[in-house]
Amino acid sequence: MEETVLTARAYAASSATDPLVPATVERRDVGPLDVLIEIKFAGICHSDIHMTRGEWGPARYPLTVGHEIVGVVAEIGSDVTKHAVGDRVGVGCMVNSCRECANCLAGEEQYCLNGNIGTYGSRDLDGTITQGGYSSHVVVDEHFVLSVPESIDFAAAAPLLCAGITTYSPLRHWGAGPGKKVAVVGMGGLGHMAVKFAHAMGAEVTVLSQTLSKEVDGKRLGADGYYATSDPQTFTTLADAFDLIINTVSAPIDVNAYLSLLALDGTLVNLGAPPTPLPVGVFSLMGKRRSFAGSAIGGIRETQEMLDYCAEHGIACDIELIDAAEINQAWERVLVSDVRYRFVIDIATLPAV
Ligand code: NAP
Ligand code: ZN
Ligand code: ZN
Repeated sequence: MEETVLTARAYAASSATDPLVPATVERRDVGPLDVLIEIKFAGICHSDIHMTRGEWGPARYPLTVGHEIVGVVAEIGSDVTKHAVGDRVGVGCMVNSCRECANCLAGEEQYCLNGNIGTYGSRDLDGTITQGGYSSHVVVDEHFVLSVPESIDFAAAAPLLCAGITTYSPLRHWGAGPGKKVAVVGMGGLGHMAVKFAHAMGAEVTVLSQTLSKEVDGKRLGADGYYATSDPQTFTTLADAFDLIINTVSAPIDVNAYLSLLALDGTLVNLGAPPTPLPVGVFSLMGKRRSFAGSAIGGIRETQEMLDYCAEHGIACDIELIDAAEINQAWERVLVSDVRYRFVIDIATLPAV
């Protein structure tokens, strides 16, 4: 059978320092288990910037990023059963994994022992380098395609595919709920979703932000308390206060200062992915049997659970919808924490090249 490739409209970077420009990416022919998605909206995650700018190591260019994807199914392969043409679907941070290892079989594909295949910048099973969602179309194996409930605003659903699941998963794993005191460090894309979820789960929620400039929003999203980390008094007022701290900061922070805010047996879960290590003093942990942990996105089953939870509880992301021409400017605003609270690209505005 003849192979056909689809040429999709996209925005791409040609180096770590150049701005993103209109481009095209080639999408593989729809295989028996594949779904072709006409992308409608794509969120801008800080990881897109880290990766494109080579902050996590050298990237492969040209690179199209974007792993908060929602769209409509345009075509399905002959053996696809999970989705049908016309369905509202989403794709998050991974598009494949081995499906055979213990972690994949446990539904934790993000921790695949053979390495999951990221939505962009990863070598796919066919040898090509994956390209992400700042693009008009994508072809993905049906297992990694989520159903987006009709009741969630479509554009506001896009960031759930990364910011949503990345915060929902650790809150569930570490038992956020009634009687638990949860702090969220950084109120950006991930942070604002952590506040919404922790509140919906019944925990008492405190935001630790650099300043008090977003306090009104934080309280509206469900925070009970809101403190500025630029004020040293915050660290004495809140000493030993929390059962769980979710760190969403994209830059290095003084982890030991935040560990001192954990109660006995408390856990600080690191979600932020700055390029440099975060030194941890062992005495910060030993004194109160504290834990320092990390968490990466979430498995496919849990991502679907999170989307259904959002539909049930009326939760979506607070977004600023932008045209493709505004992507570079939006990145600069993310870098100075000037985002309320996630930029989402209207993919219809991607120009033809
Ligand atoms: P974001 O929207 O830029 O939010 C990060 C927030 O961190 C900012 O809004 C700001 O909050 C705070 N912040 C930024 N610079 C700071 C600094 N120098 N000192 C203290 N606080 C600072 O980014 P995001 O998209 O939510 O992503 C956050 C991080 O998580 C990134 O590193 C990203 O790569 C990573 N990430 C990890 C996973 C995972 O699976 N673990 C998934 C997605 C993203 P305030 O203004 O409130 O202080
Ligand atoms: Zn992300
Ligand atoms: Zn695996």
